[in-house]
Amino acid sequence: MTTAFYSHADCRAHDMGRGHPECPQRLDAIHDHLIATGLVDALDMREAPLAKLEHLGHAHSSGFVNELRAALEPLAAGEHVALDPDTSAGPGTWAAALRGAGAAIAATDAVIDGSASNAFCAVRPPGHHATRGQAMGFCFFNNVAVAARHALDERGLERVAIIDFDVHHGNGTEDIIAGDERVLMVSIFQHPLYPYSGAVPMGTNMVNVPIAPYSRGDVVRAAIEEMWLPRLDEFKPQMLFVSAGFDAHREDELGQLGLIEADYAWITRHLVEVADRHAQGRIVSCLEGGYNLSALARSVAAHLRVLAGVA
Ligand SMILES: [Zn+2]
Repeated sequence: MTTAFYSHADCRAHDMGRGHPECPQRLDAIHDHLIATGLVDALDMREAPLAKLEHLGHAHSSGFVNELRAALEPLAAGEHVALDPDTSAGPGTWAAALRGAGAAIAATDAVIDGSASNAFCAVRPPGHHATRGQAMGFCFFNNVAVAARHALDERGLERVAIIDFDVHHGNGTEDIIAGDERVLMVSIFQHPLYPYSGAVPMGTNMVNVPIAPYSRGDVVRAAIEEMWLPRLDEFKPQMLFVSAGFDAHREDELGQLGLIEADYAWITRHLVEVADRHAQGRIVSCLEGGYNLSALARSVAAHLRVLAGVA
């Protein structure tokens, strides 16, 4: 059993400015914790490649990809461009965004080809708010949607599931895959909270579960047992893609949910069981949110221990 861990130094070079919660230190915190706990020895550490532009076209309009490239690629040291009030790009952003999507695609190929049982992509920028034609909410390319479409359109899979447990609704992923009956998307998210969408699903292939502020793990676990697991078992996905945001953690200040590391381990265990039942264990998980550095590192470790079978 091999759990591949994809990341790249370029993902640190995307910087939205002093004090921004989606900061390069998030990846340092994860990496330091993996070393300090020895968990790094249970993982197959791999370099994320750059995504090819045609891969991005599986989830994004070519107009959007071309416009983003024209705006971001030429940025020089000290130059920044704002895409929304809390999402900006600098000279390192274009490469980081390509590494993020590239990691998800490479992880998908590795898991399908069998060089890894499952994979985690420790990348930034995150992706689940990026819609087919818009960068927003700290996100540029929708890494998970790009990878899921790669599995379907390039690798011949017929049914895949997307699971999103970030505290924020994955509006970008829903925008891209709602109505694509080859994909079942299940999510939990605090509601109301940015981006204030999701309460009314955009398609029958969406299982959106809004969670009230200040709910704890017991509420989330019950929702997953009642709303996610029966639909996943009915759908029988051939592969699972996870938007793994850890900002529903009790210590995270961007949301008001009360999950702890044990909840992330519990969720991951249930996803591993679904993958073992239907998908030959195939899971590709991509980092989304998670902004309290210590809680993020501990939660990623809890997630990885279950993926790697060392829990
Ligand atoms: Zn989030």
